[in-house]
Amino acid sequence: MSNFEFDKHKRIYEILSIVKLAALLFSGVAFFRSYFDNRFVLSNTKSFYTSLFCIILVLLLSLVYIVWTFPTDKKNILKDDKYIQFAEGFIFTVIFFTAILISGGYESSYKFLFLFIIITSTIQSGMKQGIIIACISSVIILAIDILGVHSGEVNSYFENDLILVGVFILTAWPLGFYVKIEGEHIEELKRLVNEDGLTGLYNHRFFYEVLNKKILSCEVERKPVSMILMDIDYFKYYNDLYGHQKGDEVLKSIGLILKSSVRKTDIVARYGGEEFAIVLTNTIEEDAIKIAENIRSKIEETYFEGEENQPNGKITVSIGVSVYPDKAKNDVELIKSADDALYRAKFFNKNRVETYTSILDELKKDIEESDIDLVTSIKTLISVINAKDRYTYGHVERVVAYGRILADKLGLSNDDKKKLIYGAYMHDIGKINISKEVLNKKMPLTNEEWELLKQHPQNGVAIIKPVKSLRDISSLILHHHERYDGKGYPGNLKGEEIPFLARVLTVVDSFDAMTSNRPYNKRKTYEEAIEELKKCSGTQFDPSITNSFIEVITKEEYKILR
Ligand code: GH3
Ligand code: MG
Ligand code: MG
Repeated sequence: MSNFEFDKHKRIYEILSIVKLAALLFSGVAFFRSYFDNRFVLSNTKSFYTSLFCIILVLLLSLVYIVWTFPTDKKNILKDDKYIQFAEGFIFTVIFFTAILISGGYESSYKFLFLFIIITSTIQSGMKQGIIIACISSVIILAIDILGVHSGEVNSYFENDLILVGVFILTAWPLGFYVKIEGEHIEELKRLVNEDGLTGLYNHRFFYEVLNKKILSCEVERKPVSMILMDIDYFKYYNDLYGHQKGDEVLKSIGLILKSSVRKTDIVARYGGEEFAIVLTNTIEEDAIKIAENIRSKIEETYFEGEENQPNGKITVSIGVSVYPDKAKNDVELIKSADDALYRAKFFNKNRVETYTSILDELKKDIEESDIDLVTSIKTLISVINAKDRYTYGHVERVVAYGRILADKLGLSNDDKKKLIYGAYMHDIGKINISKEVLNKKMPLTNEEWELLKQHPQNGVAIIKPVKSLRDISSLILHHHERYDGKGYPGNLKGEEIPFLARVLTVVDSFDAMTSNRPYNKRKTYEEAIEELKKCSGTQFDPSITNSFIEVITKEEYKILR
């Protein structure tokens, strides 16, 4: 519940408490007036019982007062306890009834007291409850009138009381009606505030609100929460071709597919323009992957008007999946990890489902317990570099992905493959000392800046030095800028002098640098980059590694269409 809503409840609660207290006060006046009026005419014993009765009543009233004023914290104010309300209504009715009897029965001028409970119960519980209380109050008043009058006497109060009954009903009915309309209005506003106008799914704001709550409740119940993040492939292309209106139709249809593919309790939201997010409570990753795969294939199979002109011939989606608490510690990490997985799905040719895998988690399995903290700080360093160097965003992840592909192609041993992946993950860590300005500089670097940049392999090695378990990868970090012809840095090593895995890393690192936006030169297409690899094979790169990489990267499976 929002603060605004809580504030509103609190203020209504305060007003109602004041009305109730006023009602009690009036009842008290009725009791004491009748007590003092009768005191001198009563005998001693009668006076004793009356006093006792009054004391008990005062105690009862104080008790009711305490019950009201006690629940001032948030939880109690918002608690909509039907039993408490019923008990409260009952106690009030008894108090008012007694007050009327004591203050003269059918002649009493305190019959209006019922109006208080009618007003409060209508505001609290709605029209139905209000009218029921109004009817009960009316019956009580009319019964007092009829039963209190001795036969043969004329009750001149009856006519007035009929009017009072009318007032009771006419208070409960319109007031209840107003409360009902206001409630419906608020519900409608809430729906509009939480809903995305185009698709009817939940919107970004509500999604965050719910995700946070779901994570908190699943934390208590120790249940997993899975998250699916989805992005339409080449949607800009579709919009450019057919216009935004047609694009919006696709978004609507996809919204419907998503809703029909999950349980009612799952939250489906439009996360961004053409991005969707689903929160699956109490769902393990395997099940989330099945759901995601089902969604992906449904969308692939659905016909969308004009989809044949899309670069891959259809409207498709890429999906990233992650799970709390296995892969993320909180809601922010959950989104971030699902986003990482989505990024991978896009990277591996789109139209696919990917899960989040953390290199750090893989690494943690292989390193000694005592090094875990250090490796965790290395991860922080890598995110700092990513944040500083906006041109290389995702570079590390892509180099790792290429590294995995090439390792398989080269038939590396498991150990070497791991070394290559960890090396790829940390190869730029020495850039932490280089300023944002230098990393993002569009102009050619000055000699001094260039010298500084060239230090990053040594700096990287220095950073990981304290981590014993990473000792094996320092040669990769140190030599990933060597050239096959010996003109690289820092060691001017040549050919086979350069460690094999460092030569592998050089190829994948350079390929990603060529195909990404760099501050100082334009991104190459895949074909251009492959040409460049061929051109520099034997001078910059190890020829046999280069050949293997070109072979594997040109396979249909890895041909990344951009
Ligand atoms: P990719 O496969 O890499 O996802 O490529 P893409 O073209 O889909 O790129 P991106 O995910 O960045 O898509 C952004 C495009 O989504 C830009 C815009 O044309 C489209 N888009 C965003 N919001 C809306 C919307 O509300 N309606 C419509 N029709 N199009 C939208
Ligand atoms: Mg997008
Ligand atoms: Mg897209």
